[in-house]
Amino acid sequence: MKALVKTKRGAGNVLIRDIEEPKAGNNQVVIEVKAAGLCGTDYHIYHDEYNSKPPVTLGHEVAGVIAETGPGVKGFKPGDRVTTETYFETCGCCPMCRGGKPNLCPERMSIGSMTNGGMTKYLLVPAGNVHLLPDTVDFKAGSLTEPLACVIHSLLDMANIRPADVVVVSGPGPIGLLACQVVKQCGAYTVVVGVGNDRSRLELAKELGADQTIVADEEDPWEIIAGLTDGRGADVVCECAGAEGSIRACLKLVRRAGQYVQIGLVGQPVKFDIDQIIFKEISIRGGFASIPSSWERALRMMELGLVKTAPLVSHTMPITDWERAFELFKEKSGLKIVFTPVD
Ligand SMILES: [Zn+2]
Ligand SMILES: [Zn+2]
Repeated sequence: MKALVKTKRGAGNVLIRDIEEPKAGNNQVVIEVKAAGLCGTDYHIYHDEYNSKPPVTLGHEVAGVIAETGPGVKGFKPGDRVTTETYFETCGCCPMCRGGKPNLCPERMSIGSMTNGGMTKYLLVPAGNVHLLPDTVDFKAGSLTEPLACVIHSLLDMANIRPADVVVVSGPGPIGLLACQVVKQCGAYTVVVGVGNDRSRLELAKELGADQTIVADEEDPWEIIAGLTDGRGADVVCECAGAEGSIRACLKLVRRAGQYVQIGLVGQPVKFDIDQIIFKEISIRGGFASIPSSWERALRMMELGLVKTAPLVSHTMPITDWERAFELFKEKSGLKIVFTPVD
């Protein structure tokens, strides 16, 4: 089968390769992939800014149907519509695993970076990672369960957002637009900040429930947030752009004793004024990937229509068009690109 593979460490080294179809072992299932989202992480792996163990098939945002169940699998059968969590393996016995934080297990092997991922036709995963997709969620929308679970982990497990808080979401990419919807469901007044190039993304943010949007290179975000908060600043800021300018702006926009949540990955060290953490007693929060409960909540929110992922999919293309997809990602044209396998 054809797969999009990182062949060795170093910048680039990504190509389409023929690889062996997997077989389901004990307590494992093989998923026939129907949709695999392209994510910033894949892009960072391409540039070697994120750890990987090549040769490895990229892709960790997957939806499909169960093609095969291995011995001992209970609760799933061929034909079931599913999505999957991303840890192929965790040790199960370190303090993080035992404490319900498998995302922080040092032995964690994730699909799409440390072990073969979903940008291909068949994906092997442990049955314990698999979740049924609600009937109302199609494969493309379902492939966004993973980024939604990550956003939910960062915002609902690691931070504390309350009704009537003023919350800034900086960066209206796919992650920011998911964050905007989750924040809105917490009952917060939600302000999404972008730049002039983000105009259509900011429009979509409004359609998805943002109370207000700001074009940072044309308006003064501080003036607007100060106006909304009697000069105090935002209760919570969610940095979703993974960009230095946005990070600095968020540190400025957050109120004294407010919360700063870092969701965007930057891929390299950045400069910012760390003294602000002291002067304003800011709580800095971050959530790495997701935990099983984030997936249950993500799927429930999608099923109930509290978060819409389908409007974020701007392009669907075969994995063989990956170069065009990476180019579109770099240019930030469109929003979420979803790959389909080829024979
Ligand atoms: Zn991702
Ligand atoms: Zn562990």
